Amino acid sequence: MDRASENLLAEVDGELARRVRAMEAALALKGIGLKVTSGRRSTAQQAVLYANRASNPNPVAKPGTSKHEQGLAVDVVPTGARSTAVQKMIGEEGERQGLRWGGRFSKPDPVHFELAADSNAASSTFALVTNDAAQITINGAQLLTQAKKEASGGQALVTICVCLFVYKFVLS
Ligand SMILES: [Zn+2]
Repeated sequence: MDRASENLLAEVDGELARRVRAMEAALALKGIGLKVTSGRRSTAQQAVLYANRASNPNPVAKPGTSKHEQGLAVDVVPTGARSTAVQKMIGEEGERQGLRWGGRFSKPDPVHFELAADSNAASSTFALVTNDAAQITINGAQLLTQAKKEASGGQALVTICVCLFVYKFVLS
């Protein structure tokens, strides 16, 4: 797959990436090339897509509900002509690899593939969550140190309390 596709695959769940590569290998034998057009998205990116959903040919999930935000979904198109028949062949190959194909959704999304809930996925998602928690702890400690340095009165204490409150209840 091209560099852009590889970069997108590197950001999604490892098991999902493995299955998309298996799809590509099987479809290459039938003369169909694949390109990944979307992988993991931040909630902010999903919100932009959602705001512009009227001009999107495919359905767009609400921010906070897309498998793309968990790194568990990709959008895949053929490198060549994009007919309904070709998209169906790609979809069925994805299903052979155990992926859920958006072409079967009630609002069909033929370019979309995701790991089913029962797949042994989410290792990368877990790592991401763990990293975030570690980062928050580091940021919290840094803020505390900084606030102590600046402290000469009750103002710093208020700052610490507000920061701890934000980290504990808003960001967690
Ligand atoms: Zn999608």
